Amino acid sequence: MKKKTNWPMIPFTLILWCCLASAPALFGQSDGQDPPNFIIIFADDLGYGDLGSYGHPTIRTPNLDRMAHEGQKWTNFYAGASVCTPSRAALLTGRLPVRSGMASNKHRVLFPDSKNGLPASEITLAEQLKTVGYRTACIGKWHLGHKEQYLPTNNGFDYYFGIPYSNDMDKVTDMPYWEYWQQKDDAIKTEHFNVPLLRNTKIIERPADQHTITRRYSEETVSFIKKNKDRPFFVYLAHNLPHIPLFASKEFTGTSERGLYGDVVEEIDAGVGMILKALEKEGLDKNTIVVFTSDNGPWLPFKLNGGSAGLLRAGKGSTWEGGMREPGIFWGPGRIKQGLITDPGSTLDLFTTFSKMAGAKIPEDRIIDGTDLSETLLHGKPSPRKSMLYYRGTELFAARLGDYKAHFITQGVYGQFGEREVHDPPILYHLGHDPSEQFDIAKEHPNVLQEIQALVREHQSKLVKGKDQLADRE
Ligand code: MG
Repeated sequence: MKKKTNWPMIPFTLILWCCLASAPALFGQSDGQDPPNFIIIFADDLGYGDLGSYGHPTIRTPNLDRMAHEGQKWTNFYAGASVCTPSRAALLTGRLPVRSGMASNKHRVLFPDSKNGLPASEITLAEQLKTVGYRTACIGKWHLGHKEQYLPTNNGFDYYFGIPYSNDMDKVTDMPYWEYWQQKDDAIKTEHFNVPLLRNTKIIERPADQHTITRRYSEETVSFIKKNKDRPFFVYLAHNLPHIPLFASKEFTGTSERGLYGDVVEEIDAGVGMILKALEKEGLDKNTIVVFTSDNGPWLPFKLNGGSAGLLRAGKGSTWEGGMREPGIFWGPGRIKQGLITDPGSTLDLFTTFSKMAGAKIPEDRIIDGTDLSETLLHGKPSPRKSMLYYRGTELFAARLGDYKAHFITQGVYGQFGEREVHDPPILYHLGHDPSEQFDIAKEHPNVLQEIQALVREHQSKLVKGKDQLADRE
């Protein structure tokens, strides 16, 4: 009699083994942990000095301070640009906006009458994470194109809830822009800004009630977390505030020692608290990485209604440190190694870092400007980012290498900080010794300047500028 074989068991065992063996590769995990959820909380025009944990004496941010204390607080963390649209393109694509055409010397950001948006050929972090099974939501300010083909739902996000551009746009009063802002706070009304609030691609409210928008964004995030607790998810929560006009809900208005700007930041912080609490309640806190940062520095001409860059020089729109260096907080108990990180990092790095952590393949057909910060985040190793390039529009104004930063061009912004000046030789600062960029040490360090100039030549030799997407308006 023919001996009975157990052959049906062989393919089954083989398949099972293959599945188990390939799971870590599939999800990029070598430590046996599940791929983490990601939540990026992105404030608008919040400065380096606007959080309690970054030295603000009167704005109370207990939830962000807790994240900074339990996780990693980065003190040299940069936005990819000094104004909204290019900065958002940089975060979501991991590429300098000059490459995607999302930076321009004609208009610095997109407007409600802009014709274009983020080109479909760009790959967003949401599209990356979708390739490995993540559910994705964009909640808040988009500012990468308001026409349907450019909206989040056509850029890798399963869900969108938010205002598609800045909250000071679609102004309906006849008063000229800058004159309008000379009025007292109580003359500034949410109905003066006819901005739409969208769910996916449909307008559900216009003008959006900005008094409740911060709270609603946080609540939408909590609701998305609850609905997707059984699968990996990514939420990009981009608050419209504390960009002017400033509005807080009744609960927060008039409560901060810092005035209305403080009320607004404290309401954002309370939303962070709601999100952390929801993660803990759903048992997701050990498997979720939450990041908090801002798109650019404070909008200083708005005086008390603009934020603070702390000890950094200048603010929004400039390539001084105050324009691009931001709070950078990473929280994820059990994953993020607690500590203070003084090495450089950037929002440009989130694309690569989170793609790697999730097991998504990094595109090889284009230059990606991000580095993988996961060894720093998970194990406290030195950051792989050694340099930072500071663009204004499509012009390179400054470059950082290690602790040194050279300015080739400096230029004031919004009527402050002087005229355009080309520096040959460049001016040089040691950002470790002199974070406020006060003392030019170019003469004492000719070799450092040569190294930075070599880095810039190398960068420029490979640079292909994308077609300007911000120039054309209706
Ligand atoms: Mg901004």
